[in-house]
Amino acid sequence: MTLLSPGIHHLGPTLPVHVLQAAEPGPTALVEGGIHGDEVAGVHAISELLEEGYAPRRGRLILIPVMNPAAYRARTRAAPGGLDMNRVFPGDPSAPEVERRQAHALFSLMKAEDPALIVTLHESLKRFHPEVPLSFGQTVVYGVRPMPALVQRVVDAMNAELQHPYELWAPHYYPVSTSSTEVIVDALGCVGLTVETWSGFDEARRVQMQRQVVDLLLREIGVR
Ligand SMILES: [Zn+2]
Repeated sequence: MTLLSPGIHHLGPTLPVHVLQAAEPGPTALVEGGIHGDEVAGVHAISELLEEGYAPRRGRLILIPVMNPAAYRARTRAAPGGLDMNRVFPGDPSAPEVERRQAHALFSLMKAEDPALIVTLHESLKRFHPEVPLSFGQTVVYGVRPMPALVQRVVDAMNAELQHPYELWAPHYYPVSTSSTEVIVDALGCVGLTVETWSGFDEARRVQMQRQVVDLLLREIGVR
């Protein structure tokens, strides 16, 4: 499989993939939102970046605003009657379920692109507490140890500019064996992270925080 040309491609009729390429060569990064349809801040963060002409300084930046369009339209975690798309990786091109086919399409794309970093944008109903494993807002989640060093640097940068004490960010180790990040990380050896904001904040602030974390991560990897 060859690299995608710069421009807009599709993994499905309503699943656009935006490929942005800098003149200067460099690493490739992928940022994906909306794999869970009720976690909207990441979808809107990526959409805003695209509308504003956000571009890589070096290398390639692949942006997927809505990985699960039917779930996003319904504003539910999975599409009505469908599967949790973040639990079906690496997917299957001949499966009857669209989630498995689209997961496989993303997985194949990533194998061809060989990114240095993949980031998936999520949201959490619970604010992070170190003793509560299923609490994620706000965290940068990694599923493969050791923790990539950039995680702490990005968390520290976010915590230097809190607008409210509840916004506190933390690194969070939480492996999910069939998630998009982890399956791709295992297959490619890249850095794979999940960004989680707490859904208790206003959407505008969640979108702002997601944008900030994405930009910090892309600077760390050398794409911005
Ligand atoms: Zn999620």
